[in-house]
Amino acid sequence: MAEKTLLRHLDIPDFHKLDVYAAHGGYETARRVLTTMKPEEVVDQVKASNLRGRGGAGFGTGMKWGFLPKDTQKPIYLCCNADESEPGTFKDRAIIEWNTHILLEGILISSYAIKSHTAYIYIRGEFVFGAQRLEEEIAAAYAKGILGKNIFGTGYDLDVYVHRGAGAYICGEETGLIESLEGKRAYPRIKPPFPAVYGLFGCPTIVNNVETLACVPMIMQNGAAWFKAIGPESGPGPKVYCVSGHVEKPGLYELPMGVTLRSILYDHAGGIRGGKKLKAVMPGGSSFPILTADEIDVAMDFDSMRKINAFLGSAGIVVMDEDTCMVKALEIIDRFYHLESCGQCSPCREGTGWLHKLLSRLEQGDGKPEDIDLMDRICTNMMGNTVCVLADAAAMPTQSFLGKFRDEFVAHITEGGCPMKKRHAHGAESRQAA
Ligand code: SF4
Repeated sequence: MAEKTLLRHLDIPDFHKLDVYAAHGGYETARRVLTTMKPEEVVDQVKASNLRGRGGAGFGTGMKWGFLPKDTQKPIYLCCNADESEPGTFKDRAIIEWNTHILLEGILISSYAIKSHTAYIYIRGEFVFGAQRLEEEIAAAYAKGILGKNIFGTGYDLDVYVHRGAGAYICGEETGLIESLEGKRAYPRIKPPFPAVYGLFGCPTIVNNVETLACVPMIMQNGAAWFKAIGPESGPGPKVYCVSGHVEKPGLYELPMGVTLRSILYDHAGGIRGGKKLKAVMPGGSSFPILTADEIDVAMDFDSMRKINAFLGSAGIVVMDEDTCMVKALEIIDRFYHLESCGQCSPCREGTGWLHKLLSRLEQGDGKPEDIDLMDRICTNMMGNTVCVLADAAAMPTQSFLGKFRDEFVAHITEGGCPMKKRHAHGAESRQAA
């Protein structure tokens, strides 16, 4: 797949501007869809493409749209989830800032498909530049009749609003996002009912991720069969992988779904920094199990990852070299989840705090032999017992770190702190003495 679509702005200067996007065929697909197709036909096409959500869960997009009630008298809302707060993930920001109109065209076609006349882009508060750019380009689209009333003379109306969040991880959870959009504290809701039935302001609502919506124009332009031919049929399409950490060339890589993790790291991201050995990789953001260096021949798609008890998640690939202390890495991760827990459910509120406390103790050299099994038990009690999956997002990586790198956790207890840190300190002392 040589040609970029989601990262097309890398090949075309000023691609975020409406006139440049339009000069390269932008909005021709939306015009054709709105003038020649029925909404139901668009839903069928997206269903047939097997497009799966790029935000982390990987749920079928067309299927999600299909859950909307058919005969509702209430307004239907589309919410674009641009909260992107999963550690290691930075693809949506690039699409928002530099390929702005592929997202807006995706929102337009998707809103038409689900019969919505109001779309919200819920953007993470820290994305100030992205929010400004969206406002500017939305205004340009209104001025050209691409948004607003009677779009392309079809009689179809759509208003798009940008809503800036206040920077909480939990606002990326779809019902937390909806609560926040309603002006309330972002407490996730108990499901069911799901947002497709009872969402924003109690109305049927679809929440889709930025990259997911950005895939819709290309499906409608090239057809479901074209899309399905890119990668595995059960979850195909182009995918933006975010690579960060100890590699030579961190960054965003648009590749077919199903490329191997090894290929992403070594063929595209330049291998491990400084010629060091790979120790571990978080393949799907920090919320999922970690992989060891000998597990990287896995194909990066939803189903292949599940076969090895891993998740594609948001494809936020965080790479750790041989010098990484896994106890410290996990302590940072669990501190994050402790800070970001909304506090509604006690297994999450207390569990994340307890995990972080135990890990800090281990890191400082005060760990006790029973701490490892205690952490494992805490994780087991957190999973599946809470309103949303943040508790699982903390417990899953914790259990995998403890399982795959147990020796390091034990060494922190038996040696009274980080053996690696001690070795480095000793090396520095010896060099000074010499
Ligand atoms: Fe809040 Fe955690 Fe419960 Fe989710 S699992 S609702 S983040 S307390």
